[in-house]
This record gives sequence, C-alpha cells and structure tokens, in this order.
Amino acid sequence: MTWDTQTWTPLPGFPAGVLGGFAVTDTELAAAVLERIAGWRKSLAAALRTGAPPGISEAMRDLLLELLGVREPLTLGHYPYRLSAFPRPSNDPVQNLRNILLWRARIVDFLSDIWDTLGAPTFDLDECTETARAFEPEDMSPDRCYLCLDSVPEGAGAGHFDKCPVQAAWGKAR
Ligand SMILES: [Zn+2]
Repeated sequence: MTWDTQTWTPLPGFPAGVLGGFAVTDTELAAAVLERIAGWRKSLAAALRTGAPPGISEAMRDLLLELLGVREPLTLGHYPYRLSAFPRPSNDPVQNLRNILLWRARIVDFLSDIWDTLGAPTFDLDECTETARAFEPEDMSPDRCYLCLDSVPEGAGAGHFDKCPVQAAWGKAR
C-alpha cells in the first residue's frame, strides 16, 4: 500500500539558485511559486486531517501536521534535527522562498536519517520513504541535490557537498 499522491497537490519545483544567486528582480517568480506552495501545503494538510494515510503512522502524521504549521508543535522538539513549523511569511517573497527551501531541507534530511538509529527506530525506512514523497518537487530528477534542489553535473555529486548552499547555510546556523 502506498500513499496516494492524487490526494494532494504536488510540491512545485523551486527556481534554481534560490539560496545563491537568485536575483531580486525575480520577486514576481518567487511570489508565484509561493502561491503554489501554499496550495500544496493546504492540500497536504487536508489529506492528513482525514486520517493517517496507508503506510504512515499516527506519530508521523502528527509530526507532519506540526511541520506544516497546522497543529500545535508538541513533538517537533523531540528530534535532534532542528525541525520547525512552516516558516512565517515576511514581505520579501524571495526570502520566504529561501526559508521554505531550508525548512524543507531539514525535513528531507531528517527522513533520510531518522530510521537509521540504534535500537528500535521511531520511524522505519518504508515510512520515511513514503513520507518523503510529499516533499519531492514535481520536477525532481536524480541529477539534483535533494537538499538545495540545484542541478548537480553528473559525477560531481561528492564535490557538491562543499558547494551546496543548504550545507553552507547550515554551517552558519550550527
Ligand atoms: Zn545541494
């Protein structure tokens, strides 16, 4: 059983370079993407509110509702991944988009890692894989970094780690 993607609007693609050289003049583009992200967030929250989807535990469902900022953040702080509720918007669409990209990166990093713990994991690999689908942009492809979503030239994957703007932002934040 898998979680039916038809029950929510897919996450739109993020314009390349949002964290790096995204030009201020692209405010309009950022605003348009933000509007589509708002639609994704609303539809995903609505899908989760009807109950835990197949393959998703109640604990994961609660966590997702907290991440989407539509439920009191009761369990967010339990995980050492600096997870946070959906960023509060400011007047700057480009900054909002950056904040959402970083917010999303924390979540996919968490989902790629949390099942791989000593002892009984809180969430298992299948559940994390299933959940991660909700955070995959509709234009995702294997040549893109799963954190910053920028295109990474073939074979340059290992070298990207040092250049990844998300890793750079985390380096400052940590
Ligand atoms: Zn990256």
